[in-house]
Amino acid sequence: MSRQVLILGATGSIGASTLKVLRNNPEAYDLYGVTGARNVAAMLDICREFSPQYAVMADPASNMALMDALRNEQLSTEVLAGEQAIAELAKAEAVDLVMAAIVGAAGLLPTLAAVEAGKTVLLANKEALVMSGAIFMDAAARSGAQILPVDSEHNAIFQCMPQAIQQALGHCDLQQAGVSKILLTGSGGPFRYHSIDALPVVSPAEACAHPNWSMGQKISVDSATMMNKGLEYIEAKRLFNTQPKQIEVIIHPQSIIHSMVQYCDGSVLAQMGQPDMATPIAHVMAYPQRITSGVEPLDFFSLGELSFIPPDFSRYPCLKLAIDACYDSQTATTCLNAANEIAVAAFLAGRIKFTQIAQVVAACLDGLDYLGSETELSVLLEVDQRARVQASAVVKRICG
Ligand code: NAD
Ligand code: MG
Repeated sequence: MSRQVLILGATGSIGASTLKVLRNNPEAYDLYGVTGARNVAAMLDICREFSPQYAVMADPASNMALMDALRNEQLSTEVLAGEQAIAELAKAEAVDLVMAAIVGAAGLLPTLAAVEAGKTVLLANKEALVMSGAIFMDAAARSGAQILPVDSEHNAIFQCMPQAIQQALGHCDLQQAGVSKILLTGSGGPFRYHSIDALPVVSPAEACAHPNWSMGQKISVDSATMMNKGLEYIEAKRLFNTQPKQIEVIIHPQSIIHSMVQYCDGSVLAQMGQPDMATPIAHVMAYPQRITSGVEPLDFFSLGELSFIPPDFSRYPCLKLAIDACYDSQTATTCLNAANEIAVAAFLAGRIKFTQIAQVVAACLDGLDYLGSETELSVLLEVDQRARVQASAVVKRICG
């Protein structure tokens, strides 16, 4: 029987790669539902091609526009109203697989709803895990939800781990499994060879022009600052329950090795492939089986050389902020994530300089007040909101 798939964030970059995998495996999966924010044209195209049972746009005007367009074309997809309909879909009895691919904090509640309902959650929305941490992993342990990492690095690490670790994400013991270290690789983004002095004047278009991957705007900027690697560091800590010495960040400009696991006997296992998200998406959709993804196989003779560079925190201050926040507290990582979302949006809107993203985040972390138990979601949501207000104030001060 076909597995029923819900894509949260279907109109985005990960959504498109997920649809590519579905297109390659029409017998194995049915698209049950899709959600988006504002891109009605993209959603309409998805409904025409895949006839999902349900669709929701988070933006009410876009939801109305989608409803009208579907009616005009006499398409069968039913449009559900209201943002809470997204979380309702994530819990629906019929759904087997939930692709969590909304960008940023907006993805937290629907993703958590899927986790609490015990679904198989294909986790692309790293911000949801970064901002809620143990709450997220504990909810999965309680409900029996299987979390499968989509982020290419975490997917690579997952693939290189023994089954005992794969089945106990969030609560696993790396040392007992003979793992000495996770080697978390990243390309270093478009400015890895720029003069550091030139970074204040780089434009949003230059920051979004990633050398190897094609992604949404927010994660592209995060890759340029390496805040993305910082968020991934926190994500890796949460998924694989690491101690400080068990993760190392390595810049690997070619993005062929997607991350590695080093064992106590000296073995290092790496997962390699084209920089195309359809590969990790196909892996999590079929796990523990394998399906085709539509991605070209690697041709080692055309690769040339693979290289590795240690990260320089003076070029990537956001990476340092994230690693420090990771070992400080959950509140600090929630604050870091929220402040970064505001700072990146301000940079994309031309309001602050590229190098000021780190300044905004640092100012918010400096001003962080302890608010109470960090094991309560309401406290973390409050931290998130306060950090956004503070980050907006810092942006305003910078703009003058
Ligand atoms: P994107 O901007 O291309 O797409 C985001 C999706 O979320 C869209 O469907 C959009 O409509 C939806 N969305 C945005 N705001 C929303 C809101 N307020 N409510 C409901 N839906 C909303 O982003 P992306 O690049 O596809 O990234 C999605 C997630 O996957 C991010 O968390 C990112 O960090 C992660 N990720 C992406 C890649 C990649 O290659 N693109 C790789 C690894 C991880
Ligand atoms: Mg990644």
